[in-house]
Amino acid sequence: MQTMRAPAAQGAATRVAGRRVFRPVAATKVSTAVSTDVSKRTVPTKLEEGEMPLNTYGNKSPFKAKVRSVETITGPKATGETCHIIIETEGKIPFWEGQSYGVIPPGTKVNSKGKEVPHGTRLYSIASSRYGDDFDGMTASLCVRRAVYYDPETGKEDPAKKGICSNFLCDAAPGTEITMTGPTGKVLLLPADANAPLICVATGTGIAPFRSFWRRCFMENVPNYKFTGLFWLFMGVANSDAKLYDEELQTLAKEYPGQFRLDYALSREQNNRKGGKMYIQDKVEEYADEIFDLLDNGAHMYFCGLKGMMPGIQEMLERVAKEKGLNYEEWVEGLKHRNQWHVEVY
Ligand code: FAD
Repeated sequence: MQTMRAPAAQGAATRVAGRRVFRPVAATKVSTAVSTDVSKRTVPTKLEEGEMPLNTYGNKSPFKAKVRSVETITGPKATGETCHIIIETEGKIPFWEGQSYGVIPPGTKVNSKGKEVPHGTRLYSIASSRYGDDFDGMTASLCVRRAVYYDPETGKEDPAKKGICSNFLCDAAPGTEITMTGPTGKVLLLPADANAPLICVATGTGIAPFRSFWRRCFMENVPNYKFTGLFWLFMGVANSDAKLYDEELQTLAKEYPGQFRLDYALSREQNNRKGGKMYIQDKVEEYADEIFDLLDNGAHMYFCGLKGMMPGIQEMLERVAKEKGLNYEEWVEGLKHRNQWHVEVY
């Protein structure tokens, strides 16, 4: 179902590569999620120093930042709207690739005891590397899907029940203050071994942490992380209009044909081998032999997106493992034990 909305105030809507995007009127240099320049950039490598930041800011002493831009990155036929949001952090809430930020939306709610309390924190995977979209470490980006509610009886959208934080973020005008916590999470970190192949499996906004990965691996000149492995992204969305960051991905696939692989599962446009809808597990299964071999040889496998993606994937992997004479539980346990198995679903 389509859920496009009018862009937030103070900007202009335009079309880039056939997609309607929102351009802010901010005076600062503006980066965009529709990027086809994947050349390696110089970055302030000071951000490589020290330990991984964790929970630098909590609910009681959150960090206040400003929204620089909000850009719709889905097309009109997508099943819902997803926005790329660039936040001006001034480098004061550093993070590592694969981590998330918390966002506390403004306003209050009445809790189960009838008391008015502030809204709770929502987590969002960070969709840029630690250097941000401008490679200067001064911004961080989020990839947010606007949560809408459709009344099951009428089938109509009920704005009273729309998602609070995602709508706040997707509607934010440049300059809007945003209350943040974190960074948090250590499940989706990149391996220290820059030779290890990375197999990234995403559905929808689950692509966010993987964008932080591919930018670090291919688009930044980081002396202590010269990525030489294979980067293989499996991306599941409903249709072509729901693809996210496709321009950046296509350019990477062209520039790094031996090192960057991209496979889409478009459930409403493609069929699987049995003639049914192509879900993410069907696309991964097409390459199951290669994937099992890569994992045998030290690859890391990452999963991110909606919780609902995992049962289908696990069922498929279990079946393939059985065909190979492997005990699935032991196989996965082994991968977890060797820290090759990374799952963050929500
Ligand atoms: P809420 O206000 O919390 O509402 C939740 C849902 O309930 C909505 O769909 C809303 O429409 C519905 N609802 C509201 N009222 C009613 C009612 N009366 N009856 C029935 N339904 C109702 N999301 C992303 O978009 N991008 C990310 O990168 C991302 N990363 C995440 C990472 C982690 C580790 C986790 C845990 C979650 C992540 N999420 C991400 C999800 C995100 O945290 C939020 O859960 C999501 O944005 C919805 O929050 P909201 O405030 O918009 O909706």
